[in-house]
Amino acid sequence: MLTFRGGVHPRESKEATEHKPVEVLPLPARVFIPLSQHTGAPSSPVIKKGDPVKTGTLIGEPAGRISAATHASVSGTVADVADLPHPLTGRRGPTVIVDSDGTDTPDGAIKERDYSRFTNEQIVEALRLSGVVGLGGAAFPTYFKLAPPKEKPIDTLLINGCECEPFLTADHRLMLEQPAEIVEGVAIMSRLLGVKNVLIAIEDNKPDAVKTMSSAAASSGFKARKLKTRYPQGAEKQLIKACVRREVPSGGLPMDVGCVVQNVGTALAVRDALRFNRPLYERVTTVTGPAVKEPKNLRVRVGTPVKNLIEFCGGYSAEVGKLIMGGPMMGIAVSTDEVPVLKGTSGVLVLDRAATVFKEHDCIRCGRCIEACPMGLAPQCLNNLIRRGKLEQARAEHLKDCIECGCCAYACPAKIRLVHHFKYAKSELAAMERKQ
Ligand code: SF4
Ligand code: SF4
Repeated sequence: MLTFRGGVHPRESKEATEHKPVEVLPLPARVFIPLSQHTGAPSSPVIKKGDPVKTGTLIGEPAGRISAATHASVSGTVADVADLPHPLTGRRGPTVIVDSDGTDTPDGAIKERDYSRFTNEQIVEALRLSGVVGLGGAAFPTYFKLAPPKEKPIDTLLINGCECEPFLTADHRLMLEQPAEIVEGVAIMSRLLGVKNVLIAIEDNKPDAVKTMSSAAASSGFKARKLKTRYPQGAEKQLIKACVRREVPSGGLPMDVGCVVQNVGTALAVRDALRFNRPLYERVTTVTGPAVKEPKNLRVRVGTPVKNLIEFCGGYSAEVGKLIMGGPMMGIAVSTDEVPVLKGTSGVLVLDRAATVFKEHDCIRCGRCIEACPMGLAPQCLNNLIRRGKLEQARAEHLKDCIECGCCAYACPAKIRLVHHFKYAKSELAAMERKQ
């Protein structure tokens, strides 16, 4: 079975939602849409307080080489463009607040069209203006990944349907419920890249999705591939290694080894952007965890407060220990359920107190973190260097290659918060680089 070196196999915990069809969350009364919810420069506001907007109206235009457009996710009135803390980073930045008029009137530009004669340049521009970003979590602008420089020829497109994070099932449900639409999006991307080798990669804990996607892709020539269930199988470098046995060099990108990786949800968003000129203003996300009464997969408007999702799932069933945007391995803990859903929010996980209380002990030099690291790093050594303030030495030991997957911390019997320290050190090094 296809796989990669290292990694871990945490309890999957997907049973609460994997068989539940996607439900549509009722429209929120108010949405909070940060203009920075993607990798790259924030979009620049093109509306002001008091302006009327429709669902899908452009509210922020891309501002830079790597950026993404932002759109209203409900129709109504712009209540404010406020400087608010970002839900994940805490850094202040412009957020567009829209009061819904309850009608969900779509922007006039959203309509079905024939994109079959679009040139590649027109497709890239359509994706740039539609605000499509990677929906697997990283939220990298999709148009940019699909227009690699000429000196980086691409021969393989990998479609990531692994969803290797425990608890999350949004991609799984999309593959079961909208396989033909996903395949249409994959066809657009493969045409754009000019590649014939297209693999749809799915872990073997989702046999129904492997079957559905194989049959939907049968006439297109794309192949659905079954991969061993192992975390972080869905990380780009591990996926490339497992599927085509190529190694992305240290500090490199998938395009350096002829590959582009896109998530199944992104393929669907690409299809909607081209076929309907529909920008990315909603997504499917999993609301789950031991402290949620009725876990669900939900189709949600971007900017909806997380508390709306929790209420729709029956509320909390226990005292909340941790609220996480994303999965338990790579997700980011937030301090309140007032934060909005972002384009990259693949899940909302609520853990109870019992799951989050643990004590950190001294390292016993067992080496389990080294065995678990899928990037071949020595997490225990990196941690020692960081604790002694030797950041330059940590950099020399390839700290920057750490993909923050959390395998080392998961494997550590001393419960050392390794990833926390690595993130801190990386941000310190980045700050030092900016000053130079
Ligand atoms: S060091 Fe980084 S890449 Fe390696 S297991 Fe830990 S978090 Fe993952
Ligand atoms: S797994 Fe934890 S205890 Fe074992 S060597 Fe690594 S840091 Fe030390």
